[in-house]
Amino acid sequence: SKRRGRSQITVYSQEIAEEFRRATELEQALRRAIIADDVAVHFQPIVRLADGQIMGFEALARWHDAELGFVPPNVFITLAEERGFIDLLTEVLLKKAAATALRWPEDMYLSFNLSSAQLVDPMTSLSILAILNRAGLDPRRLELEITETAMMSDPDMAQKIVTELRAVGIKIALDDFGTGQSSLGRLRDFTFDKVKIDRAFVSEITRDRPSEHIIKAILAMCEGMDLAVIAEGIEEVEQAAKLIQLGCRLGQGYLYGKPIKASDTLRLIAANARP
Ligand code: C2E
Ligand code: CA
Ligand code: CA
Ligand code: CA
Repeated sequence: SKRRGRSQITVYSQEIAEEFRRATELEQALRRAIIADDVAVHFQPIVRLADGQIMGFEALARWHDAELGFVPPNVFITLAEERGFIDLLTEVLLKKAAATALRWPEDMYLSFNLSSAQLVDPMTSLSILAILNRAGLDPRRLELEITETAMMSDPDMAQKIVTELRAVGIKIALDDFGTGQSSLGRLRDFTFDKVKIDRAFVSEITRDRPSEHIIKAILAMCEGMDLAVIAEGIEEVEQAAKLIQLGCRLGQGYLYGKPIKASDTLRLIAANARP
């Protein structure tokens, strides 16, 4: 009926207003946290599967608010994108991550996630390079992770940014490969350095034939295209064994290490280097 329709609209608009109020509260808390230096970066090791040697670390943003508690990174990253201050957040995070990476052995690399808003912004490569310059980190030690979905909104701009970044020696990894709106055309049209196979396939690899075949196919394809492959979300020894057997060289996951504080990375590196 008409009346029910109207009351439903009232409920929706109240929900939307409530949602908006919550987002604005979160935005203010996040802006305060950035200024107070309360947003941290944690690091998860990326290893060579054959011997567990650490090759680099992926930087993962962390924010624990006194009142709101732990806010998941995809939540606050998306918020910063929507509210137009992802540049500021990225600068703070990359600056911190680069400062930590400078303390690692020189052959270890830093992997950093680029957000979708940065793949439509023509200033992205310049600002990333400026941050690296100020931090003193060699661009060749930086790898940027981007998702296929993030490239969708403006593929030409994304392509331009990727090309500019690679021209200064920064490597590009295609994150969450095999999920979302993935298309093999992307691998043909863009030039990447690496592909990260999503945890969704890795976690099923020992239980599920299709997942094994998909990983096999990705590995064969990437080998032909000279792309390195990282398997994400390895939690079990059996998964690692299977991946090694299939010819995957690099991996990441709780089996090798959860994301840790910057101050703990040196200890992990030292322990990893012991014969
Ligand atoms: P992602 O880039 O795919 O990162 C991998 C996520 O999987 C991380 O979650 C990591 O903690 C988790 N993970 C790693 N190994 C395992 C495992 O063995 N098992 C399980 N169950 N999970 C594992 P996290 O830190 O919550 O990050 C979630 C997402 O938030 C990231 O997904 C990334 O898209 C985004 N994100 C995090 N930090 C940043 C950042 O600094 N900038 C941007 N733009 N995005 C970020
Ligand atoms: Ca990632
Ligand atoms: Ca991923
Ligand atoms: Ca993901």
